[in-house]
Parts: sequence; C-alpha cells; structure tokens
Amino acid sequence: MADPRPTLLSLDDVLQRLLAVAQDRAMVETEKLDTFDALGRVLARGVVSALDVPPADNTSMDGYALRSADVPAEGTVLAVSQRIPAGVVGQALAAGTAARIFTGAQVPPGADAVVMQEQCEALAGDGLGSVRVKVVPAAGQWIRRQGEDVRHGAEVLSAGTRLTPQALGLAASVGASRLTVRRRPRVALFSTGDELVMPGEALKPGAIYNSNRFTLRGLLQAAGCEVQDLGIVPDRLDATRAALREAALGNDLILSSGGVSVGEEDHLKPAVKAEGWLEAWQVAMKPGKPLAFGAVRRAAASDNPVREAGRDGEALFMGLPGNPVSSFVTFLLAVAPVLRALQGCTSAMPPAVQARADFDWPRPDKRREFLRARFNAQGGVELFANQSSGVLTSAVWADALVDNPGSQAIARGDTVRVLLLSSLVGA
Ligand code: AMP
Ligand code: MG
Repeated sequence: MADPRPTLLSLDDVLQRLLAVAQDRAMVETEKLDTFDALGRVLARGVVSALDVPPADNTSMDGYALRSADVPAEGTVLAVSQRIPAGVVGQALAAGTAARIFTGAQVPPGADAVVMQEQCEALAGDGLGSVRVKVVPAAGQWIRRQGEDVRHGAEVLSAGTRLTPQALGLAASVGASRLTVRRRPRVALFSTGDELVMPGEALKPGAIYNSNRFTLRGLLQAAGCEVQDLGIVPDRLDATRAALREAALGNDLILSSGGVSVGEEDHLKPAVKAEGWLEAWQVAMKPGKPLAFGAVRRAAASDNPVREAGRDGEALFMGLPGNPVSSFVTFLLAVAPVLRALQGCTSAMPPAVQARADFDWPRPDKRREFLRARFNAQGGVELFANQSSGVLTSAVWADALVDNPGSQAIARGDTVRVLLLSSLVGA
C-alpha cells in the first residue's frame, strides 16, 4: 500500500530530475531551413559572420560628408563635389569640398564627419553648388563605423538559441540564408476524463467542455512542437494503455491532462507503468501538485519506418493535473523546460523580475505558490481575486505569476518575484 501522504518534492528537485533525463535524450537530428522559415526554431549550429556589419563606414544622417578640419568656424562654405545616395560608392573626397550624402551611404575616403542637413544651407551655383556649414563638426560625428555591429568572424547567434524575429533579422544581416536547426519535438497530446466533451457538442448533464486540449495544444504549438492530438481518452485502463501505445509511436513526448491524482478513476499511472516506467510525484507547488513523469515503450521500430525510434525506443511521458490552471502552470514550469532541453535550447528558464505587491496575501499555502497576477499602471502587481486552480479566467486576466515561496505571507508594498507570462509562453 502506498503511503497515503507521499512526501512533497520541490519544483527545483523535480526540474533537476526532468532536465537530467531530457538533456540525456536531446534530439540529435537537425534540418537546414531557409532563414525565412526558421522562426521559433532552435539553432543546432551557431551563426558566424563572414563580414563586418556595417561593411564600411556609413552615414547615419542625410547631410554632408566632409573633413572636419575644413570647417574651422561656423558658416564655412564648401563646394559640393559629389552626390552619394545610399547604395552608391563615392570618390575620395577632394580637400576643401563636401559630398552631399544620404543615410546609409558609405562615407567617401577622406571625409571624417557628417553634418546633418538641418545644420547646413545649400547654396546654388555651378555644378552641385556649395554648402554653408552652420556648425563646427567634431571628427567622427554621424558616422556608423565599419563592424560596429558585428565583426567579421564573430558568432552572432550560438547553438541552442531560440530564433526570435530579431534573431532572424540578425542572421540575415550577416547574410545567412539558411540555418541549421533542431527538428521540432513531436508531442502526442490527450485529455483524460469521461466528463469531457468538445465545444460544438451538447453539454450533457455532468459534462464540462474540454478546455485543456486547447490550452495545451496551443502551448505546444507556441513552443514549436509538432502536435499529434489524440483527443479525449476514456477513463478506462485498456483504453488508456492503447492510447499510450499509439502515442509512443513516432513521438518524443506524450503529454496528458487529468487522471494523475489518486482517485479510482485515475488510470493513467497504472497504464504508464504497464507500458513503460513511471515516477508519480507530488510537487510542492500550487496550483499543480500531482505530476507524473515516465516513458512509454515503442513498438518495434520496423512498424514505424518514418519516425525512427528515439533513444531507448521509448517516448517520454508527462501527465499534468486536470484542473485547467494547474495544467497551464505546470506546462509552463515543468513541460516547457523539458521541451527546451530536448531541443538543446540553452535557456533553462526565462528570467524573473522583481515587482511591488499591490495586494495583501495573508494566508499563504505551505507549498510554493504561483499566483495569477497583473501589472497595474503604477508598476505594481495585483492579484486575480479567485486563485482557485479551476478558474481559467484568472490565467487570461493575468500577465504574470507571482512566485511565492511556501508559507510566506505577502503584505502590500513587499517586493515579490514575478514570472512574466509573455516570456514563459512560447519560450
Ligand atoms: P483530474 O485531474 O482528472 O482529477 O481532474 C481534475 C479536475 O479538472 C476535474 O474537475 C476535471 O473535471 C477537470 N478537468 C480534467 N480534464 C479537463 C480538461 N481537459 N478540460 C477541463 N477541465 C478538465
Ligand atoms: Mg479525471
């Protein structure tokens, strides 16, 4: 008989165990993609620049390129000897003259400063006329130096980086047209619970709509996974085992919600045990206490020629609690790190910030709490009034989770640790 009150593990201990297994099974397969198509993927190989960026000194202003020594006093007039739009390379600048120049154009040899056009007066005359320079320029002004952004040979993006839009832009800026990335993690998803029906179906007595399927599927997609959605699995041992066997084929991870507490209708844990191995945890966190972790053996790889059997011929398994906020929060704090580790992503957890509590929380739980919170216009955080793990409204209202250590009361004005949902979702 199992201990009716199993010890609680800390989230940090759980993460350590999860990451040890996931890092050990990090996917090795890579793909080459057009940089255009690589948003959200994780780099398998760093990007090294074969050039300086910018490739040459250029002007950051529309104006006149000149030798600063040629303008000893305000109001000096110089002949305009050439005109250099962006994309055109000018001639060496003749002494005592200025070049009309436009933002992004290379500064001609000989010029050491640019004066913005607002500080100049164009004077008509022969050829390109002349210019009255109304300020005394400092050497180097308004010039962007060759290589000031990126040096030739520098690694601008390292292996393990998640490709954000700005990372794609940086790769493009050094001319990288193709990137080597990890393949997407393949994840099978199912919900357990005979009470669940899908939106669009009649809500028979005793039923509720399956919201976790949408939340978890969306979280997986935002994390860059290929999702095999197996829908709702009935609360029966044989059906659960069959779903696990199917899910193990060709997937790196099987993710389920519900059925991991200790009720008689919770068949997941015995099913996973029968099909592989299982560690059933009680995590000292709220929401999200029960968490199941394990693996499901795959049928012979020959039945499954397209998707090769992974390490040890098994798919990892994570069983999340059924309460909608619990499964949301445990995904962000326990599943997402596993997905990142499988992809060789270098960032284990997005950084937390400190914020002022604009609320009182006098009766904390013993467990570490992740309270649904929102920043207000005064830069503090407020709590959603109902912190129940079934209240999904809180997860939409919130833009942050207050990470409250176990048993710690919070008073208005205290500094609290805050995780931003925007940095957790899709990380
Ligand atoms: P369980 O973990 O299966 O005991 O479920 C805990 C609570 O979460 C119960 O109230 C379930 O009805 C609810 N629940 C389980 N799965 C889902 C789901 N997919 N969508 C919405 N609520 C769920
Ligand atoms: Mg259930």
